[in-house]
Amino acid sequence: MLRVGLTGGIGSGKSTIARLLEERGAVVVDADKLAREVLEPGTEGLKEVVKAFGEDVLHDDGTLNRGALAAKAFASEEARQTLNGITHPRIGALTGRRMAEAPEDAIVVHDIPLLVERDLAAAYHLVIVVYADAGTRLHRLVSSRGMDRADAENRIAAQATDEQRRAVADVWLDNSGEVPDVTGLWDRLVGFEKNVRTQSYASGSPIVVPYDERWPAQARRVARRISLAAGGRHVEHIGSTAVPGLAAKDVLDFQLAVEDMETADALRDTLAQAGFPYVGPYVDTPRGEGDWSKRLHAGADPGRRVNLHVRVEGAPNWRWAVDFRDWLRHDAQARDEYANLKLELSQRFAADSGAFAYGEAKEPWMEAAVKRVEAYKGGQVS
Ligand code: ADP
Repeated sequence: MLRVGLTGGIGSGKSTIARLLEERGAVVVDADKLAREVLEPGTEGLKEVVKAFGEDVLHDDGTLNRGALAAKAFASEEARQTLNGITHPRIGALTGRRMAEAPEDAIVVHDIPLLVERDLAAAYHLVIVVYADAGTRLHRLVSSRGMDRADAENRIAAQATDEQRRAVADVWLDNSGEVPDVTGLWDRLVGFEKNVRTQSYASGSPIVVPYDERWPAQARRVARRISLAAGGRHVEHIGSTAVPGLAAKDVLDFQLAVEDMETADALRDTLAQAGFPYVGPYVDTPRGEGDWSKRLHAGADPGRRVNLHVRVEGAPNWRWAVDFRDWLRHDAQARDEYANLKLELSQRFAADSGAFAYGEAKEPWMEAAVKRVEAYKGGQVS
């Protein structure tokens, strides 16, 4: 199953996009709808609300008077927390149940307005943010939904900012004008779901491309996801894409720090379920003494190539990955040499899909880099 988070400001067009994905075959779980369900007549939730806020939050027919409840619940922070304390766990449980009911190969799209406000992005395989500028949203809410203008303005102001949403968006759909075509997105979701289910990873031979300014933000999102899946353990963006200005293959490399290799093996399935299936046990090319073994995982998302190196914290290969990256960040000349070398080799081996030959040819320069990295580290210490 693939868990997709879909969010955006009120009036941006979330529900519109959710419907398009549903038409393609997604199972949509609508957070607003579940929020209403947990307070329907006869529910424990509604009983609790009446107990906390009084009978006058009900209409005569026993259904919830939302306006009356809102007036009481938004009167103070304490009242708001009381209401959330009743509703949030119930909505959470119901969401879990709806997702569990979905078929094994489902692409579940969770339409959740407060994804950013509740800091939930890392729990999804992928987050889609639907965007429309505030003016357009206001116009839509007032004209097509008949919302009071001041009310619409207040709601927009109370939500997360566009910047905060951009930070969690793996996919940014601009719905300011025409409704965007979701064909490409849907194909990506289908491929992603299949890879997660079959524990396959995205493959192919990426070419070396100029440094992409979007890499750091993409890496932050992926790193948070890996860390959450790995029980909060430390994850670092390493490799060429972690060096600003450096040309690189469009594959983000991460290092997950574990206590020992047994822990790495124990995390295998959890990481796979989170979208990073297992590739195998490897030994990194040693750059010194000690144990250079690791476990390798790779990203299942066809739209975002990822290599995940699970290494023992403090082990020589863990250290090397950090030091080599930091040296390249620090030393412009080394960065240029490395970029030129990679470009030349990627051209030379373009026809030959073997990453192996490419790696081999890089070795003399890498060997020489060991001393230079040591010298850089020595300089850092003194
Ligand atoms: P949300 O779920 O994000 O609050 P909706 O999908 O309900 O937003 O869209 C808000 C309103 O704007 C709806 O009436 C919808 O039909 C309309 N709408 C959505 N997308 C567009 C678009 N690209 N152009 C014009 N109107 C749109």
